[in-house]
Amino acid sequence: MEKKIYFDHAATTPVDPRVLEKMLPYFTEKFGNPNSQHWFGRQTVSAVDEARDTVARLVGAKSSEIYFTSGGTEADNWALRGAAYAMAHRGKHLIVSAVEHPAMITTAKELMKRGFEVTFAEVDEYGAVDLEKLERAIRPDTTFVGVMTANNEVGTLQPVKEIAALCKKKGVLLFTDAVQAAGALRLDVKELGADMLSFSAHKFYGPKGVGVLYIRSGLKIDKIVTGGHQERSMRGGTTNVPAVVGLAEALRLAVSELDENAAYVSSLRDRFIRRVQREIPFVKLNGHPENRLPANANFSFRYVEGESLLFSLDLKGIAVSSGSACSSGSLEPSHVLLAMGLPEGLAHGSVRFSFGRHNTAEEVDYAVDALKEIVLKLRALSPLFPKDLKNEVFPEEK
Ligand code: PLP
Repeated sequence: MEKKIYFDHAATTPVDPRVLEKMLPYFTEKFGNPNSQHWFGRQTVSAVDEARDTVARLVGAKSSEIYFTSGGTEADNWALRGAAYAMAHRGKHLIVSAVEHPAMITTAKELMKRGFEVTFAEVDEYGAVDLEKLERAIRPDTTFVGVMTANNEVGTLQPVKEIAALCKKKGVLLFTDAVQAAGALRLDVKELGADMLSFSAHKFYGPKGVGVLYIRSGLKIDKIVTGGHQERSMRGGTTNVPAVVGLAEALRLAVSELDENAAYVSSLRDRFIRRVQREIPFVKLNGHPENRLPANANFSFRYVEGESLLFSLDLKGIAVSSGSACSSGSLEPSHVLLAMGLPEGLAHGSVRFSFGRHNTAEEVDYAVDALKEIVLKLRALSPLFPKDLKNEVFPEEK
């Protein structure tokens, strides 16, 4: 069989068999609706309670601060819309970083059509929010700041603790989208100091379609999914019991195996980065060189379209992503790379490689060899590539 290599763990991960095993009974014999008053219902209520307690303990929160959602997108929407409307009497100015996931950027743009003003906070060349500029952007009518914990495209970690201190000083709410960080980094909501935080199970070997919004106790935000009295009357809809059980187990495993997994995936990432920088000319590593997610490597290949690279790698059985998986399908250059100041040409030529616990060093080597061959071939076809330079090796682009 043809070799298949998956280097797209930032898009999603396979469900860990240990997680699936925990989930299975809740599809069949333990199928009760946790809202029901009878024995079948009670059996699943306790599973949901236990999952909530586990999640709370793992992120340093109280159980009453954990709300289950249908994933990262819903949690992000809820934090932003819920806070914006709940605080609208105090002010209608919101700040979200320019490198947020579309779940935030698109929601912010929607709110702009409904009378809110939004500032997209600037980032530096590595994609980190500039604290001084952020401070200057905060106005008396600002109510909300949204800055992700780690970026999904380039992996850069944000100075969330410092931003939290600033927001506290200024009396504005801080939300952090930890969808890429959860399971990869240790998270403690109290230590981070954010008022709200989101994550999603499918990024850490849990099921798709289930996530969490942490809301600090005492903070009241509006609901966005209205219905029954689930999630302490804050989010309607019958609880997805197997998914919630799976999320808690996936997070438990990710946290207990975090150090060894992070060391392993970062060793693969470093091997990949080293070889690409050494062996392929005209490349640029996007994102912070050290302060980044252990699994992420994002490169721009000058004179090559990211999409062409993605398709050529796919033909060789290597799965990667160009820009954000969630916005691929459009050929717009990445908003993250543009915000970091990359010229359009380089922003178009970017590819994200995200490694996982099942990848091997041999896979990394196979992928680098394939990449070298593909880049050479695509550049030979490019009218922009200076042909006389084709077979030489050049220093890394700065
Ligand atoms: N936020 C970030 C940073 C993400 O990377 C993603 C998914 O790629 C999301 C939000 C959306 O999460 P979900 O796929 O669970 O809706």
